[in-house]
Amino acid sequence: MNNECLNPLTNAQQEIKNACKLLKVSDSVYQILKEPIRFLEVSIPVRMDNGSIVIFKGYRAQHNDAVGPTKGGIRFHPNVNIDEVKALSIWMSFKCSVVGVPFGGAKGGVIVDPDTLSKSELERLSRGYIREIFSIIGPDKDIPAPDVNTNEQIMAWMMDEYSKLTGKNSPAIITGKPIISCGSLGRTEATGYGVALMAHEATKYLNLDIKNCTVCIQGFGNVGKYSALNLQRLGAKIIAISDVKGGIYNKEGIDINKLIEYVKENGSVAGFDGAEQIANDKLFELETDIFVPAALENQITSDVARSIKTKIICEGANGPTTPEADKILYERKVFVVPDILANAGGVTVSYFEWVQNLDNYYWALEEVEKRQKQIMIKAFEKVYETSRDFKVDMRTAAYITSLKRIYEAMKMRGWV
Ligand code: GLU
Repeated sequence: MNNECLNPLTNAQQEIKNACKLLKVSDSVYQILKEPIRFLEVSIPVRMDNGSIVIFKGYRAQHNDAVGPTKGGIRFHPNVNIDEVKALSIWMSFKCSVVGVPFGGAKGGVIVDPDTLSKSELERLSRGYIREIFSIIGPDKDIPAPDVNTNEQIMAWMMDEYSKLTGKNSPAIITGKPIISCGSLGRTEATGYGVALMAHEATKYLNLDIKNCTVCIQGFGNVGKYSALNLQRLGAKIIAISDVKGGIYNKEGIDINKLIEYVKENGSVAGFDGAEQIANDKLFELETDIFVPAALENQITSDVARSIKTKIICEGANGPTTPEADKILYERKVFVVPDILANAGGVTVSYFEWVQNLDNYYWALEEVEKRQKQIMIKAFEKVYETSRDFKVDMRTAAYITSLKRIYEAMKMRGWV
């Protein structure tokens, strides 16, 4: 690999700087937005099942609350680090703003491989994390949610811990909860559903029929899984999928429902008998119409960008494409639906969940999906128009669209 920058914070700052320049706003706007307004580092002592105490390190970054309370997921991963959490919080601000939900951005993380913990250790860690960040979160301050390796069970424990600490039932403290614990219908599927909607929009602009499109998906966690299901529902053919343990390929199409059952039993797509086994990096070499990165950052490097054989990249993951790769993809006329737009379905329905919690009134699934679709398609059109007006790629256009809103909010509050 060449010496392209893989630091997500540097890359996020570069994206903001670029948008500030194109919008001709003063340098103080960039100075405010280049770092979170608040960053907390915590140590979480957890009693393990064998009686020993292990101290885990965690973080919470609150990027900017000019538009509204801050919002963003919590990641449990061994590679979590300060710059990554800060970058992810920046991306959340811009994501919320591009779809127009009234939140600023935040993100949290704990350095841990959750696969190494028992269920009760995981519960104690989740509750411990909430105790440590308790003073800076709240339904009108900062509202966490799931992210990589965290799920609705963890959200339920966290909501319970917060409610115990405040002495009142506080469902609006966190989103992505189970339905029985005041979650919203459609939230679990929302990010993947949104990815499918955005890929579908992109096909229309390229005059492709989604029913004739093939799809490759990198990652089969929550985002990859529901992207696959929804793209299949739209008529596309999913020909390849990979996860950390391996990849599978079937040019006739993979049956996603069968695959989901297989993964439930075996913990990975690897070994699925409805497809041939391929190495993970082979995924980038396959000819396809739509490629969905739905894993971690920096997967599409400049090397990958030069050789990838796809017409559309629809970013389910946060930060999957390096800035160098972006330039190459733009030159090669690959249509990129940037992360802050493509995967904004999650936070859009998180917003609906929060609204339902505050109202104590719950919506039907059709209502959730209808509103999500409306919001996301409108956002896509706006970003596309901006890319035309400014003659820039879709990512830069998404940043310009978002920055306008954040800038206006900061100006009205008298910050700049
Ligand atoms: N972690 C998700 C994201 O990166 C969802 C955040 C939320 O719902 O607040 O967009």
